[in-house]
Amino acid sequence: MSTIETDYQVIGAGACGMAFTDALIEESDADVVMVDCRHRPGGHWNDAYPFVRLHMPSAIYGINSRQLGNDTIEQIGPNAGYYKAATAAKICDYYQRALEDQFLPSGQVRFFGLHDYTGEDAGAHRIIRPRPACPIFEPDRIRIQPVRTGFPHFNAALIGYIEATRGDDADKNRLCPPNPYPNHAYDWISNTCVSMLARVEWSREPDIEAWLEDSRLNIERGAANHMEDPKMQEAVIRLTENTESALINLKRLMAEAQAGAPANA
Ligand SMILES: Cc1cc2nc3c(=O)[nH]c(=O)nc-3n(C[C@H](O)[C@H](O)[C@H](O)COP(=O)(O)OP(=O)(O)OC[C@H]3O[C@@H](n4cnc5c(N)ncnc54)[C@H](O)[C@@H]3O)c2cc1C
Repeated sequence: MSTIETDYQVIGAGACGMAFTDALIEESDADVVMVDCRHRPGGHWNDAYPFVRLHMPSAIYGINSRQLGNDTIEQIGPNAGYYKAATAAKICDYYQRALEDQFLPSGQVRFFGLHDYTGEDAGAHRIIRPRPACPIFEPDRIRIQPVRTGFPHFNAALIGYIEATRGDDADKNRLCPPNPYPNHAYDWISNTCVSMLARVEWSREPDIEAWLEDSRLNIERGAANHMEDPKMQEAVIRLTENTESALINLKRLMAEAQAGAPANA
């Protein structure tokens, strides 16, 4: 049996494994081996029915370094007026192109399709609902989990960036607190609270702010470009004025929900 040496072994070339790897190799010279039991990247999108498509705009889905779609607006059908949302076939082709045209030519990534990882953490990066949440960064192991609720690929890319740019696990975990997928309606409270607290931490680090502003996966990106608009100014003032009290309320509601009391405020 031969041994393969690498800096990072990424188990699974789904949206998260791809976004993580993309951000990591963009920011470092790390060597990466990707393993997937499917024959090509794209994860579950490879199995989707042909009519299945994204429910969010293609404009903010995928990996950071590659546009998906043309940022165009749907003209007909039930989504008319909204940004286009790619079909499963387009998404799979997108990831295949990213692998073949970017990752492999970079010389930093090797891809082993139709290979199962059978170690103790097999499948640990998949969309699972670890409860209680476990740290994302541990010595010799990264468990990709949600941070900002609702954007798995964005979180994976951010985790890749943080991994490439920080050395200390405690610091990385401070910037990427795990925020498990919801099981109940009241999980919205903790999901929102953790997302907001993480956002506050990011805002204190200029390089992360710059990365966020540059990231096509960041749904907030570009807000500063609209600051001339009075509506935007009003919204930002309201947001700033209410963030602290919102966090206090969320923490109180979270404590009530955890204690089983009705969260009625
Ligand atoms: C219909 C539909 C629409 C969606 N729309 C959106 C959307 O608009 N926006 C959004 O953000 N999300 C959307 N999602 C959520 C979607 O699941 C995520 O965006 C993302 O594709 C999940 O990627 P993943 O890498 O976490 O998991 P997966 O896609 O499941 O990829 C995991 C990969 O790991 C491989 N793997 C696992 N274990 C092993 C092992 N032991 N050895 C080797 N390989 C292994 C698997 O083969 C798989 O290829 C949608 C989901 C569905 C079903």
